[in-house]
Amino acid sequence: MQTTRHQSQSTILGRNGKPLALPRSGFTSLDTDARSVGEAQAKSHLIGLIRHAGLKELAEKVEECCSEYRAFACINGHVFDPVPVFRCRYRLCSDCARERQRRTFARVYPSLLEFRRRYQHDRVVLITLTVRSSRDPLAEIDTRFKKWFAKLRRTKEWKTRIRGAVAGFEFTHNKRHGWHYHCHILAFRKAWWPQPEIASLWKEVTGGAGRIADIREVRKLRGGVEEVLKYPFKPADVGNWTPDLILEFDGLRRRKLSECYGELRGLKIDSEDDLDAEPEHSGVICVGAPCPQCGEALMLVTLLRELLVVGYGGCDSS
Ligand SMILES: [Zn+2]
Ligand SMILES: [Zn+2]
Repeated sequence: MQTTRHQSQSTILGRNGKPLALPRSGFTSLDTDARSVGEAQAKSHLIGLIRHAGLKELAEKVEECCSEYRAFACINGHVFDPVPVFRCRYRLCSDCARERQRRTFARVYPSLLEFRRRYQHDRVVLITLTVRSSRDPLAEIDTRFKKWFAKLRRTKEWKTRIRGAVAGFEFTHNKRHGWHYHCHILAFRKAWWPQPEIASLWKEVTGGAGRIADIREVRKLRGGVEEVLKYPFKPADVGNWTPDLILEFDGLRRRKLSECYGELRGLKIDSEDDLDAEPEHSGVICVGAPCPQCGEALMLVTLLRELLVVGYGGCDSS
């Protein structure tokens, strides 16, 4: 294949080892993994923390994660279906977190739509539960919180009001107060449940540690689902963490940070298999096929993330 070189442009190698020229306008395909400068800095900060925590191997994996992509591209630099060559799958990795979030939403949302169609008289509500901050180890706090939450779900009040729910657990760390642990629940409510009642019940089952118990109606199901799924999968903000906190967090490795209850039980939302699945390719994009943008033949190429991001036309945080 004939390749052209433009002056002052990055050159990437195609599968055949020949240089591939990038047009001035940059790649036109949408790269869901392109990240902003801020995110790149956050990731190198995370890698530094992991290294200082003594987890050298993990640090290397996180560093390698999404550093290279395989994609289909034409000689004019139009790129399609970029897929990272390697993913670390570490929960705190922002690249893996974002992808996990995207895939989970795509899988869970249709089921919830179907559930709403089946129970048209139910109201969709968003419940938030918090407890007072604690300096105890995170794993202990997590165990305690989930025990209290299970107790809440066993009450007559919960059972008569809530048909099914999806919950996401989140925690933030504050130097002075320790861990702030809380949970966001998207629930299908069968009967009216006044906020003061759920608040006093939450206080009761937590033996006084319960703080906020908020319940509000969700007008748009999509927004509600995004709200809940955002937390267990969102790239955690580790800006003010220390290596010790990384080790504490790793103690939660095998625990679920999201779960389904009641009639929604069985809906799989915390799935590690997700990141294994290859993205679906439309038959139109394959080696030798004409580029949908310019008609030149597509090749399979390996790209460094930097080129993908630079070529993408700047570092906007989308
Ligand atoms: Zn990763
Ligand atoms: Zn093209």
